[in-house]
Amino acid sequence: MEMSLPSRCGDSASDPVEPILVSNALGECQPHVRGILEKARSGEGVSFEESLRLAIAEGADLDALVAVANELRRETVGDAITYVVNRNINFTNVCYVGCSFCGFGRGPGAADAYLLSLEEIVRRAGEARERGATEVCIQGGLPRDLDGFFYRDILRAIKRAIPEMHIHAFSPMEIAYGVDKTRMPLRDYLEMLKDEGLGSIPGTAAEILDDRIRQQLSPNKLPVARWVEIIRTAHALGIPSTSTMMYGHVEQPADWVRHIRLLRSIQSETSGFTEFVPLGFIHENTRLYRHGGARPGARREEHLRVHALARVLLHGAIPNVQVSWVKMGFELSLACLNAGANDFSGTLMEENISKAAGATFGEYVPPEEFRTMIWSIGRVPAERTTTYRIRRTFEDEVKNGAGAPGRLRLAPAERHVVYAEGSY
Ligand code: SF4
Repeated sequence: MEMSLPSRCGDSASDPVEPILVSNALGECQPHVRGILEKARSGEGVSFEESLRLAIAEGADLDALVAVANELRRETVGDAITYVVNRNINFTNVCYVGCSFCGFGRGPGAADAYLLSLEEIVRRAGEARERGATEVCIQGGLPRDLDGFFYRDILRAIKRAIPEMHIHAFSPMEIAYGVDKTRMPLRDYLEMLKDEGLGSIPGTAAEILDDRIRQQLSPNKLPVARWVEIIRTAHALGIPSTSTMMYGHVEQPADWVRHIRLLRSIQSETSGFTEFVPLGFIHENTRLYRHGGARPGARREEHLRVHALARVLLHGAIPNVQVSWVKMGFELSLACLNAGANDFSGTLMEENISKAAGATFGEYVPPEEFRTMIWSIGRVPAERTTTYRIRRTFEDEVKNGAGAPGRLRLAPAERHVVYAEGSY
């Protein structure tokens, strides 16, 4: 099947999104790269070395990678671009962990440190419900004196007030912390959270799943083996999760490949990942950039490369690749949605993290605005649940005049939100 993609993977943030044919893109790339991509198209697995060759693709090779990723996306999930109406509730910014890439965590004595009460968390969830949200995403920092049952209490309080709300909450780092605090076995702790209404887990705290790199990013964070154990156990209990990767800092393309292949191997055992979310490193105000030797985040080509690579390497395993508009802004997100990604993530509704960082993005984007952006690249918007059940498609919206493409809000790169635990 012939597919189209953005015309060139150039560096300009205002590059048009114009279609070219997959066959043309494959015709112009290097024969070795073409051979690897043909293998991927035919469903054959690609080796580590072949994956690495794709991970460093440039110019015509990158165009071909993007084209094939776009084609595989269409084969797998069609032309719909999905999104979920949700709200982020970051219940505290107090955190002892001290990740070098984080601009969100605060010490308990900081003037802007906060901890939301259960009543306030429930109030925010209720407000989200009134505005059509089907999901609340709940994560926070790790205060030293946190009660390990606080996560359970959050779930209980929300479910009592709003039983139908899907609660997507608590990264593997938070789960590990709750287990340590309560001294409960991991499986029992997760079962307790599930019984209290935990619907799914954000696959954050993954960063790069390599202990050598994690030592540089955050020596206090859970090691790879523990992250994998928590995810596998959650999946075994019927608690799905997302999967994420933070790129654009000290890691190399080989680390992307190892990371994505590890996620694929977990998925082949559990089928518990709902999606993969590449998270570009935002370098401003981070120790990792100022003192840790990190790159200043990814350039446009690298964003496209990572999203396209993920689609190709996860083909047949994880069906959804999500863009993080909070980090990339809308124009680049739309480009990535033509480079293998198929999900626009959530509408979010106010995000304390982003406001604290002074970001343009990370606040509420009305679903209508999401749909307008999706229509602007010729795709079909569809609202989904957290677990990708389609609630509504909007095929007739343009015909009825409600979804006519409008002016896009573009993300000024210097105003991006710093890294934090987002809604993934
Ligand atoms: S990324 Fe999360 S765990 Fe790390 S310092 Fe920030 S809030 Fe704490």
